[in-house]
Amino acid sequence: MSLQHLRNYLEGRTQSRTQPICAYLYDLVHLRARADSLRQSLPPQCKLFYAIKANSDEPVLKALAGHVDGFEVASLGEIHRARAVDDSIPIVFGGPGKSDAELEGALDQRIMLTHVESEHQLRRLDWIARSRNQVADILLRVNPAFVPQQATLRMGGQATQFGIDETQIPALFELIPTLPGIRLKGLHIHAISNNLDACTHLALMQHYFDLAEAWQRRYGLAFDWLNVGGGIGVNYANPNAPFDWNSFCAGLSALIAARQPRFQIVFECGRFLAADCGYYMSEVTDIKTSYNKHFAILRGGSHHFRLPVSWQHNHPFMVLARDSWPYPFSRPAVHDAPVTLCGELCTPKDTLARDVHVERLRAGDCVVFLLAGAYGWHISHHDFLSHPHPERVFLDNY
Ligand SMILES: *Cc1c(COP(=O)(O)O)cnc(C)c1O
Repeated sequence: MSLQHLRNYLEGRTQSRTQPICAYLYDLVHLRARADSLRQSLPPQCKLFYAIKANSDEPVLKALAGHVDGFEVASLGEIHRARAVDDSIPIVFGGPGKSDAELEGALDQRIMLTHVESEHQLRRLDWIARSRNQVADILLRVNPAFVPQQATLRMGGQATQFGIDETQIPALFELIPTLPGIRLKGLHIHAISNNLDACTHLALMQHYFDLAEAWQRRYGLAFDWLNVGGGIGVNYANPNAPFDWNSFCAGLSALIAARQPRFQIVFECGRFLAADCGYYMSEVTDIKTSYNKHFAILRGGSHHFRLPVSWQHNHPFMVLARDSWPYPFSRPAVHDAPVTLCGELCTPKDTLARDVHVERLRAGDCVVFLLAGAYGWHISHHDFLSHPHPERVFLDNY
């Protein structure tokens, strides 16, 4: 989506004093093209799945079906969302808290692989599958003892609720052959989120290969799949310096050539696929100065777009100027100064960017937050304070 598309949207919407602009815009053309290009640059032994929790809107799933190898889901609700758009797309199912209903639903809905996160979950799945004369194909989700890297969030390499400690995995290799409802297909490791560095991500892949190969040798196993999770990052602090996907893929190709693994490698990316297809646009409804600091108040805020608050970062944005001004009195503005962008909620937490320099920002202008396609609307508490929801626009075929 170009700047022009954003402006077109603004112009197409008649300016209304009583209904300030507040909208999410999603670029489905870009989303598909991005999925194609990411998938094509991966080595042939790799699959690219989409982790739908990043953005599970139907138009997004429809746009991606056929452009990714499958969907990763984390609840029965997500299984239904995925199946509603595609009855046959491969689905893999993760999550630490799968209920019996969810395990049954996974069997009903022909899930390709269930990622088992504990011994109890394993035994329940076996028991349920056997009672239905089925066999569930699974990956064991490993919490590796060592994660050689830093990232925004960590689900592994330390004590967490996710997966099974590396040290507890061998006991399950011995248990599984006694469980007729379970067929072990490989390993799943999703240990970090938002890694921005291709080199450390490659080191992580190498470490996962080491783990998988050592266990295969030691326990005489032949894995079909190594799911290396998502966690490839989006550089919110500097959108012009993204994760270097091409060099990551080149390194991964070399790693695969050197190791010749028999297993296929699955990526299940959410953020890296969907973030840059989304824009959150919001009109400035007031500008004020408080004890020498400038504040812009937006129609909208963290109840629509919780990500910057959740991560305590300044979210990147741009200003779209709008020249008309409906009131017969002066227009509040800030020029060439730092400004803090706040939402309309009655909490000081509702701040989307703090002390960021702007050339000019006036009441009636719009602010557009970039990289809002993943973990934006879907992680937000939409009804807190009962403001109207944003318009949500899915642009396709432009
Ligand atoms: C959330 C999640 C993902 C996607 O993570 P991103 O950081 O969005 O790529 C993948 N796998 C699992 C198990 C997850 O929980």
